[in-house]
Amino acid sequence: MDVNKLEDLEIAGKSVFLRLDLNLPMKDGVITDDTRLAEALPSIRYILGKTRKLVIASHLGRPKGKFDKNQSLSPVGERLSAVLGKEVLLVRDYDKEPIDQLLNQLGKDQIILLENLRFIPGEVENDLHFAGNLLKGIDVYVNDAFGTMHRAHASVARLPSLMPKERKGVGILVAKEMQELLRLKTEGNSPYTVIVGGAKVSDKIGMMLSLIEKANSLIIGGAMAYSFLAKQGVRVGASYVEKDQLDLVDAITRNCLARKVAIELPIDHVVAKSIDDKTGTITQGADIEDGYMGVDIGPKTIERYRNVILSSKTIFWNGPMGVFENEAFARGTMQIAEACAKSDAFSVVGGGDSAAAVKKSGLFAKIDHISTGGGAALKFLESSALPGLVALR
Ligand code: AMP
Repeated sequence: MDVNKLEDLEIAGKSVFLRLDLNLPMKDGVITDDTRLAEALPSIRYILGKTRKLVIASHLGRPKGKFDKNQSLSPVGERLSAVLGKEVLLVRDYDKEPIDQLLNQLGKDQIILLENLRFIPGEVENDLHFAGNLLKGIDVYVNDAFGTMHRAHASVARLPSLMPKERKGVGILVAKEMQELLRLKTEGNSPYTVIVGGAKVSDKIGMMLSLIEKANSLIIGGAMAYSFLAKQGVRVGASYVEKDQLDLVDAITRNCLARKVAIELPIDHVVAKSIDDKTGTITQGADIEDGYMGVDIGPKTIERYRNVILSSKTIFWNGPMGVFENEAFARGTMQIAEACAKSDAFSVVGGGDSAAAVKKSGLFAKIDHISTGGGAALKFLESSALPGLVALR
């Protein structure tokens, strides 16, 4: 690894700035899922075992550079306090009054949590002045927010770029993410299968072109499949097709042909008049009638994809096979989750919707690695030059 790990850094008695992803899902100010907090605990505990001067910083939601009480980190601070048994001081005006004084007065059982970084415009603007203020009084910088590593924001990119290499590094979660995702790029036993679904080809093209170099099969599902089928002249009815992205479809198809990677496309579908319908109809073949849209992969496709998955030795999956938010069209995605879990392959699921599907299937313990960052995982697989990592090198 070309960046320092937390264990490599000298932090005993030092003041540590820990960038976390505490963007916890909330409803009416109540936390509905604290997985991200649980994932941050190993680094927090490690640091608190060596020093009591800890400053935690995170974003929450997209508040557009101004205070919004609905996106305050206050409930997160309360949860953190309960879990750690420490007083969490939620600091709001750290942009105007840097926290160096406060750090010096910090009690044994107190830690600092900076209020939502995105309340200050300088965060998303990657602003030098804002980063300089965050840095005051800080000896060591640790980034354990994998889900934001691909963002050139002040707390992710600018701040660490102002520090010498020996005083910055990645936390325990990011180190694990890098290790597992790198295995996909460097090891990857055959048969190697990449499963891609979801809506947007453009978001995933970089990852696909990168992994095609190692893969034997590329399984395509979700809305994305209809752009591929349309390009091949298959009738797709009213299915979602990214007309302006058909060049990308061409690029992937050509690359797969050149590298002898088999592209697997749906051979039947569940179709409906709208994504909100209560039930769907199964087609006989790949063609879809006018007025209908493909909303899930059909049973023959599931069977075929399942066989490819079960005979694989390496699997990477990102993106649902259908409109899985609607229970009526979730079967394809859940079955793919189950097949990935049942296979003996080294399996990695790349965050977001596919990770949620695996969790819902109850089989997540059988997956080797479920990434905590959908977008960041895709970017990392495309190239390891994520702004948050470059700034640590
Ligand atoms: P992405 O963020 O690109 O992974 O896309 C995820 C979204 O794709 C989810 O909200 C799904 O509902 C949506 N999706 C998957 N399959 C389809 C489909 N056949 N038609 C429309 N939307 C789909």
